Amino acid sequence: MSSSAPIRLGIVGVGKIVRDQHLPALAKDKDYRLVAAASRNATVDGVANFATIEDMLASDVQIDAVSLCQPPQVRHKAARAALLAGKHVFLEKPPGATVSEVEDLKAIAARQGVSLFASWHSRYAASVEAARSFLAGTTIRSAAIDWKEDVRRWHPNQDWIWQAGGFGVFDPGINALSIATHILPPMFVTSARLDFPENRDAPIAAEIAFRASSGQTVNASFDWRQTGPQTWNITADTEAGAMLLSSGGAKLAIDGKVVHEAPDTEYPSLYRRFAEIVRAGKSDTDLAPLQHVADAFMLGRRNVVEAFFD
Ligand code: NAP
Repeated sequence: MSSSAPIRLGIVGVGKIVRDQHLPALAKDKDYRLVAAASRNATVDGVANFATIEDMLASDVQIDAVSLCQPPQVRHKAARAALLAGKHVFLEKPPGATVSEVEDLKAIAARQGVSLFASWHSRYAASVEAARSFLAGTTIRSAAIDWKEDVRRWHPNQDWIWQAGGFGVFDPGINALSIATHILPPMFVTSARLDFPENRDAPIAAEIAFRASSGQTVNASFDWRQTGPQTWNITADTEAGAMLLSSGGAKLAIDGKVVHEAPDTEYPSLYRRFAEIVRAGKSDTDLAPLQHVADAFMLGRRNVVEAFFD
C-alpha cells in the first residue's frame, strides 16, 4: 500500500463494540476510509452494506482491509476468507476461539503477503506503558490480578459469551492477561479453578495461579458476579514500592500516589498500530494472552456453581 492513501476498510459484525468504539475511532482517523459493512441484522450509514463477509468480498467495492468484530467462535472462517481474498485483517480480541486456528491464520497471512493484527485493546490503556517502564526498572516480588465486574451490566443478552468458545469470564479476563503479558516477566499457569454455572458452558469466575520463570507468583482472580464498584486492577509488590495499575490500565499509582493517568485512546491507538503494520508489510500477532486462557482451561479444575440467568 502507498504510505499516504487511506486504507479502504470493511467492518464485520456490527454490534456493541463496533458502535461503542470502532465507528467513533474510524470517524476521526484520516488513515482510513470506511467503505463497507457486513452484518446479518445491522447496517452502517453511508457505506455499502452486505449481509455476509462473503457477499462483501465478492462485490465490486474496493476494500484493502477488514476489521472482524463478531464473536470469536465465527472469526476464523471470516478471517480465512478475507486473507484468501488478499485483504489485511484486524481481529478483535480474542483473536480466535483456539490457539491453533489463529496459528492457521498467521500462516495464511504470511503466504498471502498481507498483514494480520491480533488486537489487544487493553494493552493501549493510558498507563500500561508507564507501568511497564516502572516494573522494568525494579525487582518484582509478586503480582496479582483482580478483574471483577458485573456481567449483567456489560454483556446483557449476549448468549455467545456463555457458549463453548465464548470464553465466559475470560472474555474480560483476557484483557487483564493482555496487560500482564506486556508488563510482567514471562509466566505460566500452575493451577486453576473454573466456576461454571450449572446451566452454562462457560465459566462465571476463575482463580488462576501463575509462576514466572524467575519464581515469582502471579495470582489472578476473575469474577463476573461483582455488583457496585467494578474492579480491574493489577498490583505488584516490588523493591521500588507497591504498584497499583487500576481502572483497566488507565491509572498508575506507586505506594498510593498516582503517578500516571490520561484520557482513554485505546481504539484510536489500535487503528494507528494497524495502519503502521499494513504500511510496513508486517503482522502483529502475539498470542500469549490466548495461550494462557487455553492453559487455564487445560489445567483448570471444573467447579459447578449455581445457575446464572440474565
Ligand atoms: P455483539 O454485539 O454480541 O456481537 C457483534 C456482532 O456480531 C453482532 O451484533 C452480530 O451482528 C454479529 N454476530 C453475533 N453472533 C454471530 C454469529 N453467531 N455469527 C455471525 N455473526 C454474529 O458482541 P460485542 O460486544 O460487539 O463483541 C464482539 C467482539 O468484540 C468480542 O470478541 C468481544 O470480546 C470484543 N470486544 C467487546 C467489547 C465490549 O465492550 N462489548 C470490548 C472490547 C472487545 P449481526 O447479527 O448483524 O450479524
